[in-house]
Amino acid sequence: MNEICKTVTSQKGKVKLNIHGFLLVKESSVENTYYWSCEKKRSENCPGHAVTIFSNGSHFLKKTAKHEHSPQASSSEVAVIVECIKQQARETHDSPAQIIQNNIASVDKNLVSNMPSKDALCMRIKHIRSSEMLPQPQTLDKVDVPLPFQYTLKEELFLIRDSQVGLGWVLIFTTKTNVQH
Ligand SMILES: [Zn+2]
Repeated sequence: MNEICKTVTSQKGKVKLNIHGFLLVKESSVENTYYWSCEKKRSENCPGHAVTIFSNGSHFLKKTAKHEHSPQASSSEVAVIVECIKQQARETHDSPAQIIQNNIASVDKNLVSNMPSKDALCMRIKHIRSSEMLPQPQTLDKVDVPLPFQYTLKEELFLIRDSQVGLGWVLIFTTKTNVQH
């Protein structure tokens, strides 16, 4: 199985895996092997689970087991799409129209009718972007790099230098492995 699984980030910042409309939460991981179980494991005793291999920034489906319920109701599916849109608003520089188009293109028509309007989604994207925009620092020593950006996806330190040198301030972004190449 080489299927790439989509992930969504919940409002609480939890990463969930979306496999064919079922949402799974991470149980554990060993190196790049991730073990997921259905988010209804406790509430509905669902045995649905999956194993993925994390490679090149994507989760590749290795194994999945059946669920004892139908895929999430359309309201949750809508929520999943809206989460994707919000995530892309934060992580990409695509225009709001582009983000909405990307996410709606492959969606079932019945579902689109349950979605917030394009105008509403557009407003939401703009709101997310403006509320998360940090004030522009005027000098390098005022630059406060948020913690998630100090590390790479492999959790390797990326901001290796953040200190004063002579009269100036330096920020050096690289990883040890990169320097070794
Ligand atoms: Zn399930």
